[in-house]
Amino acid sequence: MAAIMAARGQGQVQDFDFFVVVDFEATCVKDARIFPQEIIEFPAVLVDGATGRIESAFRRYVRPKHHPVLTEFCRELTGIRQEDVDGGVDLGEALWMHDNWLKAATAGAGSLAVVTWGDWDCRTMLESECRFKGIEKPSYFDRWINLRVPFQAALGGGGRVTLQEAVRAAGLDWEGRLHCGLDDARNTARLLVELMLRGVKMTITGSLAPSPPIQQKQQPPQLLTSPCGGSSALATPLIQQKQQQQQQPQPHMISPCGGTSATCFCYCRVPTRGGVVSMPGPMQGKCFFGCGNWTPAMGPVCPYFVWTN
Ligand code: AMP
Ligand code: MG
Ligand code: MG
Repeated sequence: MAAIMAARGQGQVQDFDFFVVVDFEATCVKDARIFPQEIIEFPAVLVDGATGRIESAFRRYVRPKHHPVLTEFCRELTGIRQEDVDGGVDLGEALWMHDNWLKAATAGAGSLAVVTWGDWDCRTMLESECRFKGIEKPSYFDRWINLRVPFQAALGGGGRVTLQEAVRAAGLDWEGRLHCGLDDARNTARLLVELMLRGVKMTITGSLAPSPPIQQKQQPPQLLTSPCGGSSALATPLIQQKQQQQQQPQPHMISPCGGTSATCFCYCRVPTRGGVVSMPGPMQGKCFFGCGNWTPAMGPVCPYFVWTN
């Protein structure tokens, strides 16, 4: 790439020796939420930060535990067949295999950054499933480059550009099948290389708060600093979340604390909803953001919950 970059006259030395582009596919249903959502395809594409070469690719199908039978909608969206996930590994094993592949492909040396299209893969999907299942993941997944950020800075375009639109806007043809995780990751990697060729320096755009130790059942929920500015009870296992939801006063969701949050998304991938605790007690008046799909009749759909003060 050095020669091509010199020809374009815009080369940038990158801060990372390698970029690992990932694009998870997960269980889904049409026009509704699935909970818990689980990863079913774990693909990664390795890009050399100095040469811009796509070096190697990895893929494992992952067997979902909670909704083991894929919906027809999910199979058609992703192209993933039932037998692919039936023969898949569990998420912990996929993470371990990915880590081994990465170590072999990079000779275990050099700095690396995870690249995704959007924040969902690392901030929501992998993080929530690992917490939910008590799986430890390598720390390189705790910070990432959302390629949409440098893409929009370099090529503009207001609104929410899709990956396919971005690839085409950069003058590239889309290759492969949309929503096939490996093809999405390959196209993201091609877009990354194109932006590098155009002289864009890649920097980290998102990260998670440091992970706390997984909690014991009897401990009270530990409040963490959330990336959205509040404190979060995200580490709480599901049983405890259910107990916590029962113990928590039923909040009024339309509140002086800001209503819906435009910048933060719950695990359902919708903007979180703000509320204030109305029940008399020590928490009265405290503001929080919770699941954006919360309704008075059904309560939250996912366990997302952060205090804002
Ligand atoms: P993507 O990386 O855009 O292919 O999407 C990642 C995951 O998001 C998919 O595997 C689905 O679980 C979910 N998803 C994407 N598009 C849709 C959709 N139109 N309806 C429901 N779920 C979707
Ligand atoms: Mg994606
Ligand atoms: Mg995809």
